[in-house]
Amino acid sequence: MIVILKSDVGENSPEYRQVFDFLANKPNVKTRVHQEIGAQQTLTEIYLIGDTASLDKAEIEALPGVERVVRVSEEYRILGRHKDDPRPAGFEYNGVKFGQDNLNVFAGLCAVDNPQHVEMMLKALRDNGQVCTRMGAYKPRTNPYSFQGHGKNCLPWVFELAGKYGIKVIAMEITHDSHLDEVREALEKTGKPTGVMLQIGTRNTQNFELLKIVGRQRELPVLLKRGFGITLEESLNAAEYLASEGNRNVVFGLRGMKTNMGDPHRNFVDFAHVPVVKRLTRMPVCIDPSHSVGTRDCAPDGILDVMHVTAQGVVAGANMILVDFHPVPPKALVDGPQALTIDELPYFLEDVAIAREAYEKRRAATDRFLKKR
Ligand code: PEP
Ligand code: MN
Repeated sequence: MIVILKSDVGENSPEYRQVFDFLANKPNVKTRVHQEIGAQQTLTEIYLIGDTASLDKAEIEALPGVERVVRVSEEYRILGRHKDDPRPAGFEYNGVKFGQDNLNVFAGLCAVDNPQHVEMMLKALRDNGQVCTRMGAYKPRTNPYSFQGHGKNCLPWVFELAGKYGIKVIAMEITHDSHLDEVREALEKTGKPTGVMLQIGTRNTQNFELLKIVGRQRELPVLLKRGFGITLEESLNAAEYLASEGNRNVVFGLRGMKTNMGDPHRNFVDFAHVPVVKRLTRMPVCIDPSHSVGTRDCAPDGILDVMHVTAQGVVAGANMILVDFHPVPPKALVDGPQALTIDELPYFLEDVAIAREAYEKRRAATDRFLKKR
């Protein structure tokens, strides 16, 4: 159960205390407070855990400080989509909106290699009106002898170059809590020329201690990738770990499932789950066509599989696209074979816009149909 307080009810007000006094008298009910501090107002939500079935919703709603009470289903208390749930979905970070109704493209390098390639990519993004990118500094690799990423050494120049080209958000994977400190330190030292969305990769979806540490900070939003070999429910619970620790600015990423049945793609593309995640939770949904498909193979129509699956995800309502590009794919240190090239960027964006328009037309048709019914 979630008790949502009126926006003007602050911690020191009598109404606030009255709510807590009331709840303190209920046996086996624990409270956890979450506050969203905005420029205009602070929103307070009280999560009730334990024997909430015996609580009377109307009785709590009658307390003067209470705006609304939502009975949540057991699953995904914070990030879940519950009946009569007025809480807003999505968030804004560094001037960029993330929600279930819009779309952001994060095209960029799987792995940062050198300043020249990074700058070529960032310049192309700026020239094509883009404000987000992906740049990997910490790469989890199957083979211990493969390039592991430049780590913290590249962060200052990557952030400065991103700022130079007007990039607002970089999706960047971290695999250890020390990486979180390094990213925050580098942002601080460079004067925050850009922003970072922390990425939890598919190999760490159930690294609960990492999730807790990342969830305890609220400065940087998080892109949580679906685990490649676990159920959707398990991955959504992993997202809830982040929120339960305090950070609900979470985007959920689909990146394909590991199974030979997906062959010849690198992973079995799971973008049919875009609407499912939107139905079960209030998280924006990201698709990663590059790590799903893993090649530059193309259909007889000349369209790359990577672009076909991107369009499929976007037509189904995806809210973010994480996609590998590289100025010279054969020279990429990680995942060159699946990278799109810089001259393909405007064409890729045009194809995304076509698919997005199709999604919007589908929504309008659905609205018309439901209204008439
Ligand atoms: C990546 O996005 O670079 C990556 C390694 O993805 P995943 O965790 O989905 O394999
Ligand atoms: Mn990769």
